[in-house]
Amino acid sequence: MLFVHLMDSRSGQAHRRPRTLTVTVALILASAAVGGVKPALGQRTATGPTTSPATAAATAARQVGSPVYSDIPGLIEAAIGRADAAVAAIIAVPDSQRTFENTLGAVDDLGARIEAETNMLQFMAYVSTDAGERDAASAAEQRISEWAIDLSKNEDLYRAVKAYAATNHRLTGERARMLEFTLRDYRRAGMELPPDQRERLKEIEKSLSELEIQFQTNIREDETVVPVTLDELKGMPPEYIAGLARSADLYIVTMDYPSVEPLWTLCDNEMTRAKVRFAYVRRGGQKNVRLLEKIIKLRAERARMLGYAHTADFQTETRMARNAQTVREFYDKLIPIVKKKAVKDYAELAAAKREHTGDGSAVVQIWDGRFYTDYLLRTQYAVNHEEIREYFPLDAVLDGLFSITQSLYGIEYRDVTDSAGTSDRPLWHEDVKLYEVYDTTSGEMLGSFYLDLHPRANKYNHAAQWGLRQRKTYMDGKVQKPLAALVCNFTKPTADKPSLMRHNEVETFFHEFGHCLHTILSTTTLNQFGGTNVERDFVEAPSQMFENWVWDAQVLGTFSRHYKTGNPLPREMLDRMIAARYLGSGLLAQGQMWLGSIDFAYHTDPAGEVDTTAVQEQLYETISEYPFLPNTWFQAGFGHLMGYHAGYYGYMWSLVYASDMFQRFKELGMLDPQAGRYYRDKILARGGTVDGMTMVREYLGREPDMNAFLKHLGLEE
Ligand SMILES: [Zn+2]
Repeated sequence: MLFVHLMDSRSGQAHRRPRTLTVTVALILASAAVGGVKPALGQRTATGPTTSPATAAATAARQVGSPVYSDIPGLIEAAIGRADAAVAAIIAVPDSQRTFENTLGAVDDLGARIEAETNMLQFMAYVSTDAGERDAASAAEQRISEWAIDLSKNEDLYRAVKAYAATNHRLTGERARMLEFTLRDYRRAGMELPPDQRERLKEIEKSLSELEIQFQTNIREDETVVPVTLDELKGMPPEYIAGLARSADLYIVTMDYPSVEPLWTLCDNEMTRAKVRFAYVRRGGQKNVRLLEKIIKLRAERARMLGYAHTADFQTETRMARNAQTVREFYDKLIPIVKKKAVKDYAELAAAKREHTGDGSAVVQIWDGRFYTDYLLRTQYAVNHEEIREYFPLDAVLDGLFSITQSLYGIEYRDVTDSAGTSDRPLWHEDVKLYEVYDTTSGEMLGSFYLDLHPRANKYNHAAQWGLRQRKTYMDGKVQKPLAALVCNFTKPTADKPSLMRHNEVETFFHEFGHCLHTILSTTTLNQFGGTNVERDFVEAPSQMFENWVWDAQVLGTFSRHYKTGNPLPREMLDRMIAARYLGSGLLAQGQMWLGSIDFAYHTDPAGEVDTTAVQEQLYETISEYPFLPNTWFQAGFGHLMGYHAGYYGYMWSLVYASDMFQRFKELGMLDPQAGRYYRDKILARGGTVDGMTMVREYLGREPDMNAFLKHLGLEE
C-alpha cells in the first residue's frame, strides 16, 4: 500500500545504513505491526504527481531560500483526501462484485498515487533551501506516516480484502504474491486476533512506540563529554583542536562522530583514546539499559501473541533469511572462519603497537584499532588518500560511472535539466541535475533520476538514494515511470581546483547508483514490488555488489584521470590500495558480527527476559579478539536496536550475496554487456516480485555460497 522505503545512507559510520525509502501498503502494515514506522531516520520515498499534476504548485526553484512548493500542508491534505475517497470506494464495492482490480489492485493504485503525490513534498525536508519548506515537509512526513498506520488498521478495508480473498480469484504471479503478502501483513498486525488480545496488542504497540522514541532521544541528547588537556591531544591536527569547545585549560571532546572518529585514528596519547572509548560505550547510560530491557520484553510478548517463538522469528519471517535459525547458522558458520583472518589482523596490529611504543609486551586494545590501522597504512602500505584523490575529479568519475553503466545495461542517459523545473519535475537548487534513462534497444524511456551532489547548508548530510516513484502500471493501464534521487555531499569545485573525490567517496557514489538503477530498471507492474521493494536483508546486495567496480584496474583505467597530468591511477598505487583494503578486515567483520549477534541474542529469548549487559559481554568474549572493556554497556547507545531490531545481521548477509553475484561479472568481465544484461534481467528488473533467494539462485544457476564473500574479506577459503 504505502511505500516508504529507505535505502541506506552511507555515512562515515562503522556500519552503513540503507536509506532508500518506499512506502507501500504492505510495508506500512509490516511496520505498523512492529511498532510503528518512524520515518525519523531519513527514509523517504518519493514522488511526483503523475496523475494529478494540478496538485503541485511547483516552479523552478533555483535560488537558495525560495521554496519549491507554495502550500505543502494543503497539497498533503488534498492527497490524503483523494486517498481516503479511494479507500471508501473499495469498501463500498459489494462483495459479490469484488475483483482484483476494484479491491487489491485499487489498494496498490492508491498507494502508488499517494506516493507519487507526496513523496517529493516529503523529500523537501532533506534538500529544500527554504527553512519553512523543510519544516512543512517534516510535518508532512509525520502526517503521512500516521495516516498510513491508520490505514493499516482500517477494519473495513481489511474485511474488503478478506472478502476478495474468499472469491475464486485464481491469481498468479505478482498479483498472487500481493494477496499473500497483504493477508500475511494483516495477520502480523494482529487483525486476526480476538478483540481482547487486539486491545492488548494495541497497548503494547503504543508503549513500544513511546519507549523506542525515548531510547533514541536519550542517545541523541546524551551529554557525555571527555575533558582533556592539550598534551592529551598529541597527534591531533590544529583544525581539530581549534574546533573543540574549551573550559579553562581543558578541551571538551563530545561523543559525536566527527569528534571521536579522528581522535581514535590520530591521537597519539593512548589514555585519551581509551578514556574516549570508555565514555563512548557507556552512552545512553543505565536508563537506556532499563528501557531496552523493557522494550525487549514487550516485543517478546507481542511475538508470542502473534504465534511466533520469539521476536527474531517474527522479524525475519518477511526477510530473505525467513527465520531465526537460518541467521544463527549463518553466524555459526562465519564466526570461526573470520576468526582466522582476525587473529592475523590482531597480530599485525600488535606488532605495530610494539614497534611504535617500544614496549615488547604491549597489548592491543579496542581503542588501538583505528590508530594502528592508520599507522600501518602510512608506514607499511604507503596509501596516501590525498594523493589518490587527485586521480578522481568528479567529472571524470561521473563520465566513467555513466559510460560503464550505459554499456553494461544497454541504456542511455540524457541530461534533461533544462526542460525540468515543472511541477512534475521540480529543481530545488542550481546544482541539481535531472537525467532520463532510455533503453538502447527499444528506445523506451525507462525512468529518470536526479543528482544533487554537493554540500550546502541544511542539506541531508550523508549519501542516500531516494526512490521517489516506483515503476507501476495502474489498473486503468497507465504506466508510471520510476523517479530516483541521489543525494550526496562531494566537495564542490572551486575556480582553481575541480571537485576531487576520495576513493571511498567514489565507492559511495557507485553504491548509491546501484540503488538508483535498481529503482529505474524495474519492470514490475505493482507498486508494492517496484525496484528496491525487496526483502530488507537483500536490498543492499545490488548496491554493495556495484562497489566492486571501483577496485578493478581495468575499470579504473577507463576513468581515473589525474586532474593535472591526465594520467590514469598508477597500477602500483591501486595494488597498495587493494592490499590495504584487507587490512583489519577480519577484525572489522568481527565487530559487525558482534553487533548483529547482540541484536539477535536479545530477540531470541521467548520470554524476553534478557540481561543485556551480560549478554553483550559474553558475546564479545566469544567473538572478538580485543579484550572486553569492563563496566561498559554499548547496547545503551546502539540506536539500530530500535527500528532495525533483529535485522542488523542484514548488512553482512546481503554482502555475502553481493559478493556471490559479483563472481559472474568477475568471470565474464566487469564491462561485459552480456553479463550486464543478464544481471539486469535476472535481478534488477524483477524488483520484489520474486523471493530474493529464488532470484539469486536463478541468477547464479546454483546454490549461493560464502566463498566469494570470504575472498572479499581477503580470506581464501
Ligand atoms: Zn545502500
